[in-house]
Amino acid sequence: MKAQAMTAFGAPLTPMELDLPKAGPGEAIVRVTSAGLCHSDLHLHDGYFDFGDARQPVAIEMPAVLGHEIEGEVMELGEGASGPPVGARVAVYPWLGCNACDTCRAGDQQMCIVPPRRALGVAKWGGMAEYVHVPFADALIPIGDLAPGLGALAMCSGLTAFSALKKIGAPPPEQPVLLLGMGGVGLMAMTLAKSVSPNPIVAADIDPAKREAALRYGAVAAIEPTMDAWKKVAAQRGPAAAAIDFVGAPATFGFGTGALKRGGKYIIVGLFGGKASLPLASLPLKPYSIIGSYVGRLDEACELIALMRAGAVPAPPINERPLAEANSAIDDLRAGKVVGRVVLKP
Ligand SMILES: [Zn+2]
Ligand SMILES: [Zn+2]
Repeated sequence: MKAQAMTAFGAPLTPMELDLPKAGPGEAIVRVTSAGLCHSDLHLHDGYFDFGDARQPVAIEMPAVLGHEIEGEVMELGEGASGPPVGARVAVYPWLGCNACDTCRAGDQQMCIVPPRRALGVAKWGGMAEYVHVPFADALIPIGDLAPGLGALAMCSGLTAFSALKKIGAPPPEQPVLLLGMGGVGLMAMTLAKSVSPNPIVAADIDPAKREAALRYGAVAAIEPTMDAWKKVAAQRGPAAAAIDFVGAPATFGFGTGALKRGGKYIIVGLFGGKASLPLASLPLKPYSIIGSYVGRLDEACELIALMRAGAVPAPPINERPLAEANSAIDDLRAGKVVGRVVLKP
């Protein structure tokens, strides 16, 4: 199969002919029709995540095929594979675990630590190719007649936003929830928020255009991320029951935790990086909790696709490009020149 393969960290992707594995028992082959390009692809391409004073290296075997936001058509099902029939349009849940350990059986495949790693487009070949081999056919989620590309986007940016919103829980419905950072995932969360939580949403971003977008999607206020701006909101609505940080930088952490009510939740999704220091006594004294959220569960992915198929979620702007232009798409995303989400078409 044709693929845009990564042969070395930081190097341009290379067009390559790769051998497609057969679908073994319980497995599936999907013909890729859309592969979303995600910010985390940039980190994987760099070869590391920024952990403040250290770089956390990425372990990937080369050649690698990036692309964890995958949509396509079921082409082949292995023996005994349950799941949508051959020909069905599907989104592929990429955050696969071993499917056998306690964590996986509890539905948290995305947190499985049983080697080898299996996440598609990270440890295993992903969507920047004509086909993708899926180790468990139950990772295929039927998408019916959903507009092309939306199923792909649901699998990372959508799912990450959705799962983070779910972690808010059920605070009193009049208390505000703060969403920090209106980039791709943050805006996606903005569009999903009404389907998950009745609480008023306040968006914060340094970019006025992004604040505008947040207001269009239903934020009750969109502010600059400063305590002065927040105090005006809090004077009316009270402190935040929860804040979701889609940036994950020291500055957003300082601002967002300052906006929380006593007993509030700080949910971190963004991987911008760096380090934050905090007075440890503030945790018990305020008290608040800090919660990390990593992508999402398979059942959450199914729930999200159901919401999208029901038309409950406005579609984000999609920027389609041929897979052969993966390198320029990566460059544009790095340079911040992309409006909406890039979807590569093999
Ligand atoms: Zn992603
Ligand atoms: Zn497992």
